[in-house]
Order: sequence, then structure tokens, then C-alpha cells
Amino acid sequence: MAAALVYVEDPADELSQQAVVMAGALGDEVQAVAIDGAGGTAFAPAVLAQTLVELAAARGASAVVAPGSERGNEILARVAAKLDLPMAANCVSVTVGEPTTVTRVRWGGSLLEQAEVHGAPLLMTSAAHAVAAAPIAALETVPVTASTSELDRAVRVIEQIPTASAGVSLTDADVVVSGGRGVGSAEGFSIIEELAELLGGAVGCSRAVTSAGWRPHTDQVGQTGTKVSPEIYIACGISGATQHMAGCKGAKRLLAINPDGEASIFAGADYAVIGDLHEVVPAISAEIRKARAS
Ligand SMILES: Cc1cc2nc3c(=O)[nH]c(=O)nc-3n(C[C@H](O)[C@H](O)[C@H](O)COP(=O)(O)OP(=O)(O)OC[C@H]3O[C@@H](n4cnc5c(N)ncnc54)[C@H](O)[C@@H]3O)c2cc1C
Repeated sequence: MAAALVYVEDPADELSQQAVVMAGALGDEVQAVAIDGAGGTAFAPAVLAQTLVELAAARGASAVVAPGSERGNEILARVAAKLDLPMAANCVSVTVGEPTTVTRVRWGGSLLEQAEVHGAPLLMTSAAHAVAAAPIAALETVPVTASTSELDRAVRVIEQIPTASAGVSLTDADVVVSGGRGVGSAEGFSIIEELAELLGGAVGCSRAVTSAGWRPHTDQVGQTGTKVSPEIYIACGISGATQHMAGCKGAKRLLAINPDGEASIFAGADYAVIGDLHEVVPAISAEIRKARAS
């Protein structure tokens, strides 16, 4: 019987467990494998991909499945490039057939796409929460393949630097005060930081801000940044691009401050202040101080 090979990043991690469960829907024997030697802190995606390619060939795998994490998607994209096959990322369901069809998450969760995936083996990653996680019953640990080259090791993690953020993290914060291009400069963020501090929250920003070098990428909220789910998200000088909203749509309430009443951020806002953030944000901070002093 053919086997569906599942790359397990971390057996304790829900995403890896979900990938194994989703592979069960393919109808073949599921072989969950962890790869010893080029994962974890020594992450080397080309080495892992080459190992999976050789393992899949040796076992005649009908599919290679990985968790839809950044690392899982990267490894499988490399497997696809090596095999010259298509790869379906972030799938929420799969139906085996001629051809196999998948439903997958696109645009940071804004839409679901149905796609046909041609070629064998089937290459796919499973989206978070697509299926319920379950402990992995049988996990095999395999070494990295000996045939990997120095070139395969050229891209690897060489150092991990803890984020230097003081106070509450973006993902855990109940309040996120986020600034966009409308803030105008790196120095302009002092009023955003001040409000975040008063509210015990974290500072976020849009990609326009990280691209300008005003804030580090670790502060970026959005499709290619952090996904946040605070009680309230205060968006200051942010237009509301789909890719930004993909990161803050988990917020329970959204307050937008923008002088352009037509800005699309207002379509998703619970509270709107049509005005200049350089006046509105310090005014909110001043009111909070006044209320606390009395
Ligand atoms: C593949 C891809 C991935 C992406 N991923 C992300 C992502 O993860 N996160 C992200 O944010 N973006 C992402 N983007 C970029 C995204 O499309 C937008 O370009 C970006 O979000 C715009 O940032 P912004 O709202 O700060 O800037 P702008 O769109 O330029 O908006 C600035 C806003 O500030 C307002 N403004 C100006 N002056 C003031 C003032 N004085 N007071 C108040 N408001 C003012 C303006 O009216 C305007 O609405 C991605 C794009 C692509 C193609």
C-alpha cells in the first residue's frame, strides 16, 4: 500500500499533529517522520527538503504533507522545486481523485480557493485549525540524507536573537496601538508608544512602516507579519489594506484614527475618529492621565 509521508516539525506542536490528521484523509498509510540533524535551531530547509525527496522516492510515497507553518511551507516549496511538481499550501480539506482537489486558505485567510493539484506525489501543507489536532501515534525519526551538499547548508539558521521588546508581546497584548505611514517618521512613534504604555499594551505597525525602517519587522501586523487578537486594536494612520487587516481581524474591537473618511480601515472599524493622529493620540493620552490623576 502506498504511504503518505508527513513531515513533523515538532510532535508536541498542534500544526504538526493537524498535518498528520489531514494526511489520514488521503486514504493511504500515514508515515509521520521527524528529521534529525537539520531542524530546530539548526534549521536548514534545503537539507530537510532533499531528505524528504529521497525518503518519498525510497518509499514510493503517494503524498508528502507538512504543517502549514512558515518552515513547513518553505520546506515543501523546496521539495516541489526539486521534483518540478505543484504544491498546495495551507489546505483546509483534500479530496483524492483524478485530479486531486484541495480547498486552501489564501490572502491571509480572506478567501478560500478550490484548486486541482496535478502530479504525483501530491505535495501539500495543512492550514492551522483545519482539522482537530490529535497526539501522533507513531513517529519515526530519520537522519538527514547523506547526499546533501554544502550548498544545501548555505541557507540555515546561524543565530537566534530574542526580541528586545520590553513589556507585553504583540501576540499576547490586550491592547495594540498600531501606527502606519500616517505617523510620518520613526520619531513620530513616540506618541504611539506613550499611548500603548498608558494602556499596558504593545506597539504594532503596518508594512509601510517597516519598509521605511521606522520600526523592526517584529512589530509588523498583517499577512506577512504578526496576527494579533487584542481586546482593542487602535489603528493610527493606517489605510486598511487587505494584507494589514489579515493580521488584526482577530481583534475584538477596532478604533481607527485617520483624516480620510473614505479610508477602507473604517469599513472594519467599531469606532472611528476622522482626524489627524498627531492631535488625536496625544489628546487621548492626556485624557487618560487626567482621569487617573483625579
Ligand atoms: C504580499 C504582500 C504582503 C503584505 N503584507 C503586509 C502586512 O503583513 N502588513 C501590512 O501592514 N501590509 C502588508 N502589505 C502592504 C499593504 O498592501 C499596504 O501597502 C500597507 O499595509 C499600507 O500601509 P499603511 O496603511 O501604513 O500606508 P498607506 O496605505 O499609505 O496609508 C497611510 C494612511 O495614513 C493616513 N494618514 C496620513 N496622515 C495622517 C495623519 N496625520 N493622521 C492619521 N492618519 C493619516 C492616510 O489617510 C492613509 O489612509 C503587503 C503587501 C503585499 C503585496
